[in-house]
Amino acid sequence: MTNAQLAQWLQDHTSTIVAGDIAHENPLLPALYESIIDVAHNNDTRMLDSIIDSAAAHKVATGEPVGDLLTLINTLRRDLWDHIAAEVDPEPAFGLLSALDGIFTHISRMTIECYLEAQQLAQAARATEISRRYAESERKVLEYAAEVSRANRELARLEQAKTDFISIAAHELKTPLTLIQGYVDILIAIQKGNPQAMTLLEGVERGGNRMGSIIDNMLDLSAIDMNQLILVLENVNLKTIAELVITQARKALAERHQTASVEGMDDLPPIEADGNRMYQILKQLLSNAIKYTPDEGHITFSAQLAASRSTNQPAVEIRVRDNGVGIAPEDRDKIFGKFYRGGDTALHSTGETKFMGAGPGLGLAIVKGLVEAHGGRVWAESQGFDMTNRPGSTFVVSMPVQALPRPEVRIQRPHNLNQPDAITKDRPADSTEAETLTTQENQT
Ligand code: ADP
Repeated sequence: MTNAQLAQWLQDHTSTIVAGDIAHENPLLPALYESIIDVAHNNDTRMLDSIIDSAAAHKVATGEPVGDLLTLINTLRRDLWDHIAAEVDPEPAFGLLSALDGIFTHISRMTIECYLEAQQLAQAARATEISRRYAESERKVLEYAAEVSRANRELARLEQAKTDFISIAAHELKTPLTLIQGYVDILIAIQKGNPQAMTLLEGVERGGNRMGSIIDNMLDLSAIDMNQLILVLENVNLKTIAELVITQARKALAERHQTASVEGMDDLPPIEADGNRMYQILKQLLSNAIKYTPDEGHITFSAQLAASRSTNQPAVEIRVRDNGVGIAPEDRDKIFGKFYRGGDTALHSTGETKFMGAGPGLGLAIVKGLVEAHGGRVWAESQGFDMTNRPGSTFVVSMPVQALPRPEVRIQRPHNLNQPDAITKDRPADSTEAETLTTQENQT
């Protein structure tokens, strides 16, 4: 039996063939050699097949080419062939070599088959894994989307609750406060000659006035939120308003040893705006600059003509610059939100003009509402928040030269008083003196 002779020959030459360098380089070789002996001995290919199967699977798993495996098999085959051809007599050698060939043909075929099968399995597993991951991420996206829309609904509900709260609280507080202020006025008149009572009453009066200005802010914000704002549009000289605002703040500026000035506002054209609202905007920005700048600080109003960054229409950019504590980048947009106070609120004190004297966080929300009602924009510029180095802040208000009010904002133009009725048909009930137009009407 040629196979039995081959098995014997292989067994006898194990150390010669497998002990060489090649065996050290590849530990697969001794196993392969042993399994070849097994096949030659009893025609059982099971061990050989499983060795090849696992070697092929390993190649696929590590991404190595199957060629390496085939080269190793070929090297072993050539080695054995050379030894047999050189050492065995030609006649028995022929039988051994053809038996060897049979085994190696099986090995090569198995190697390729196992490799292809392992590759297919890997691809199928990859495809299954990919589609599993895809389904998983799709499920997550849907979950997130549902969560985001739930959160958005909740935010809208909270925003509405805020708006309702501001409106209800302001209206409910206004009447009793007016009553208190009325009685305090009477008491002050009665107690004029009583200095002790006067000190107390003046304290009550100051508290009442402060509360009154907070309630007025809440009413303004509620009017903005509920689209009940009416802008009385006229030609407004911004320099005059800036100077007026500074003059009226002189007591607060003196208390804080601060200075404020107007720079380069002489050549500005008048803008079409609600003068009282522009006054309110600049007053709020100055009051904030005073609060968030330490003593000895300086505040500047300046302005220049520039095209609006959003509409490209002519606009005036008013800048209120201070050398105060500045604003952290993450707060720069948020400070325009209702009830938002920037930075560490523990650093805040209370009071209208005191350093870091934060209020209820409504001032900038009103500024934004009023500016946008005119079709303008407001934003803050600052290098960051730093109580020691004081990088300062600049609030920029970009106002269109020709007002571009939002559609829902009602406007009045005092000079249009004598317009025909056709234009005034939507006049609101409370409009007595000036004509009231919706923006759409105004644009037609
Ligand atoms: P508040 O009543 O707290 O002053 P505002 O709406 O006027 O409310 O301002 C909101 C926040 O914006 C303030 O709490 C403050 O952190 C920040 N801020 C406003 N103006 C300035 C400024 N000029 N410099 C630095 N921070 C400012």
